[in-house]
This record gives sequence, structure tokens and C-alpha cells, in this order.
Amino acid sequence: MLQIVYIAAAPRSGTTLLGNILGSLPSVAHVGELDLVWRNPQDYDERLCGCGHPLAICPFWNDALDVARSFHSQVDVSGHYNQVLAWERRIAHGAAPSAQEQVYLESITEMYRRVTEASGARVIVDSSKRPHYGACLRRIPSADVRVLHLVRDPRAFVYSRQSRLKAARPDGRFALDMPRAALDLYRWRRINREAAGLARRGASMRVQYERLMADPERVLGEIAAFSNLEVDGLGQGGAVDLATSHTFKGNKNRFQTGEVRLAEDLRWERELTPLSEGALRVLAAPLLAWPLALEAAG
Ligand SMILES: [Zn+2]
Repeated sequence: MLQIVYIAAAPRSGTTLLGNILGSLPSVAHVGELDLVWRNPQDYDERLCGCGHPLAICPFWNDALDVARSFHSQVDVSGHYNQVLAWERRIAHGAAPSAQEQVYLESITEMYRRVTEASGARVIVDSSKRPHYGACLRRIPSADVRVLHLVRDPRAFVYSRQSRLKAARPDGRFALDMPRAALDLYRWRRINREAAGLARRGASMRVQYERLMADPERVLGEIAAFSNLEVDGLGQGGAVDLATSHTFKGNKNRFQTGEVRLAEDLRWERELTPLSEGALRVLAAPLLAWPLALEAAG
């Protein structure tokens, strides 16, 4: 039986880091954001695997990428990726798959069979994040798919989305684009509602990112127990030791190996102007009771 741990989350929620922490355990392989393998066949040659080699020559991906190439030869999605997203949405809502959707589901099944085989691992961790794709993985016949719904403080999410654009003032702080912050919060809410919906329909565990960073040993122990992984002192002393990963896409942290100290990230409190910080607190307040808000929103 295939065993998959699927990390569902909004972007910028620490999914790559959590995937690499779990992927460093014996008998676990983190494959990154494998949903993107279905997007565009042309760029496999340009992309780097998490191990640093181009995907096209990393032996881990040899057989697996053939499945994606075969899918792309049957179904033309170049320039029509929204079509794939629409299939996933329908599948997530329980619709009977059309002929093309059936090809997609069969390709997904074969992909995870091959990466399991190539990795020699017992458990595959996928950090694709998107809840609808997670629902497709749940359609893999006789697979045990466990969902980790990773939730980050929406204020840190907004900060992270806008920090790239910041024009710092002399005091080192920057002002948020508030209409954009409101849209970011709306997006956070939409994705987390979808992830909560996915979580409700099967084995799942909700993980709060801030709690993971504050007490990694305890939270990683809980995650390992839920994911049927054997760990001994993972996250002890607030640090983890990251191994090389064979990840398909993900943020640049996926190339990081060796010891990493985990710490809470409170830059949103320190680096925003007082006005932006205050406005963000008010706007995000309804989302902060997140377990209740997510359950009620179903
Ligand atoms: Zn590799």
C-alpha cells in the first residue's frame, strides 16, 4: 500500500521546511510540490531537483518523469493549466471523473507508485499545499493518505507576502499596502477553509506553524505519531538536521541541509510601521480564532 503524507496549507506557511524535516527521517522521502509536475512538460530540463542536480539527470526522477511525459502526450495542458485546476476542483467535490480526469487520476496513481519505488522509502511526503490536489491523492486506490493541515498566523502570512516589496523607511520599518493585505487575508481564509474541508474528509491533523517553531520536539513527536513515522528526539533542543532531498519544486529552503535551528518568526511585529501593524491586527482579528473560524466555515 502506498503511504502518503500530504501537507495542505496556504503559501508561505513553512511547508517546505516541514517537508524537509520529515523527509530527513529514515524511510521517508519528501518529494516537494509534485502537483506542478502536471503543469508544463517543457521545463523539467531547466528545473533543479532538491539534491542540486537538474531533474532530467537525477536518477530519482528517471521513471517518474516518464509518467508525466506520457500524461502530457495524451492531454495538452500547456497554456490550459486552469483546466487541470478545474478537474481537481470537480474531483475534490466528489464528481464522477470524466475520461480526461480519469487519465489524470491514473497518472497521479502511477507517479506516486514510481516515486515510492525510486525512493525506497516507506512514506512519501508531498508539500504541494493545494487542498484540491490533496483530494485527488485521496482517490489513489488503496493508498493511505494522511493530511497535515499546516496553519500559519495570518498576520505573518501577510507580512511574508509583502516583505519582498517593502521600501523600508529610515527606521527600518515598512508600510503595508492595505487593500492588498485585505486580499491576502481573504486568500488565507479561502485556502485554509478548503484545507479544513479536505482534512475533515479523512485522516488528518492540524498543525499550527508557530507552535511547531516554539516547541518542535513536542509537535514533531505528535506529527510523527499521526504519520506513523518512527522518530527519536526529533527537534530536540530546538534544532533539526536536514538531509539532502529530491524535491520537485518548493521554495529555495529545499536546498538547505545540515543543522537548522527552529525559531518563531515575529518580524511582522517588528518590521511594520505602527499604523500598518495596528491595522493588520484589526483586519486579521476574525481569523485568529482559527480552529473555530475554519470549522464553522466548512
Ligand atoms: Zn535529486
